[in-house]
Amino acid sequence: MTVSTPPPENSWHLDYAQLPGTTGTATAPAGLDGIFEQTHPKLLLVDDQALNIEVLHQIFQADHEVFMATSGTRAIEVCRTHRPDLILLDVMMPDMSGFEVCRALKSDPLTQDIPIIFVTAQDTAFDEARGFEEGGVDFISKPVNPAVVRARVKAHLTIKAQADLLRGMALIDGLTGVANRRHFNDQLDEQWNAARRSGSDLAVIMIDVDYFKNFNDSCGHEQGDACLRAIATALAGTLNRGQDLLARYGGEEFVALLPNTSLAGAKLKAEALRQAVLDLKWQHPSSEIAGGVVTVSLGVSAVQPGPAFTSKDLMIAADRQLYRAKRNGRNQFACKAVSLA
Ligand code: GH3
Ligand code: MG
Ligand code: MG
Repeated sequence: MTVSTPPPENSWHLDYAQLPGTTGTATAPAGLDGIFEQTHPKLLLVDDQALNIEVLHQIFQADHEVFMATSGTRAIEVCRTHRPDLILLDVMMPDMSGFEVCRALKSDPLTQDIPIIFVTAQDTAFDEARGFEEGGVDFISKPVNPAVVRARVKAHLTIKAQADLLRGMALIDGLTGVANRRHFNDQLDEQWNAARRSGSDLAVIMIDVDYFKNFNDSCGHEQGDACLRAIATALAGTLNRGQDLLARYGGEEFVALLPNTSLAGAKLKAEALRQAVLDLKWQHPSSEIAGGVVTVSLGVSAVQPGPAFTSKDLMIAADRQLYRAKRNGRNQFACKAVSLA
């Protein structure tokens, strides 16, 4: 094994750095095939000894995006900001032990899913059972054997990629590919709390396809499914802010969650969503709406979250407005801000 000279002391003054000459992508792999060819998984190397980090860096730099930290505190910061795919964590460190770092990461929802491999010095007694109890997935002893450490890291990265894929699938609607109701509910809670903290507005738009039972009856269920997919794509394409979320709420009903959006802004969005579906010009032979194409009705509501309301009030208000839009003739939106009255 060749070990290059560690960088001069002053290049470590930042405590950690993304090493030069590495590339990578921040997104999880779309599939498992060729994950190592398509992406450079993000590895965090944690050790209070720069030389130990350098050895591991040599092993992984060519096909991984490598981050490093020389203290536990710094490792936790890097995890929160860079979300590595895997951590090689030294157990014996002066400020926080590897076990303490592991415990902190496992108690934070943002970092709890990152697998941790403990790196232990061979001459120190190491309690393997405790390591597993703390949440580690594996152990490697120093000095490391490059072939072994590579194989172990690859195995755990593959498991991590599979877990990420499953987690992602659990949040996606199978028919349309947009978020499902469960993901929407999670995001609603999260955005509600964020808006409460920041004092910003939060808007919701409920969207329901008009006369869709008639559509299925006259065109068949398969055509109905194809139509729902086209509608989902058109709606999702109309939401262009990063934080906006479109979800399938159930059946032929969708919902848009719009953070930092007032009622006035949400009305504009609702009109754009209505128009996007109309623009599909999807033939609907049994629609009672002039033109004979597929249309949607929308219920819009917005609120500045505070102690007087809950996210349920926002949803109920949007649903009431949807009902109003239906009653008023469909292919339109109705809106109202959530208020105490
Ligand atoms: P309205 O304008 O009042 O909304 O009338 P509607 O016919 O759309 O409403 P209703 O709730 O009576 O019927 C909804 C229909 O949506 C029932 C069902 O046939 C159809 N639907 C729900 N989920 C799916 C689905 O996944 N695929 C297909 N093809 N149709 C669905
Ligand atoms: Mg409907
Ligand atoms: Mg419906």
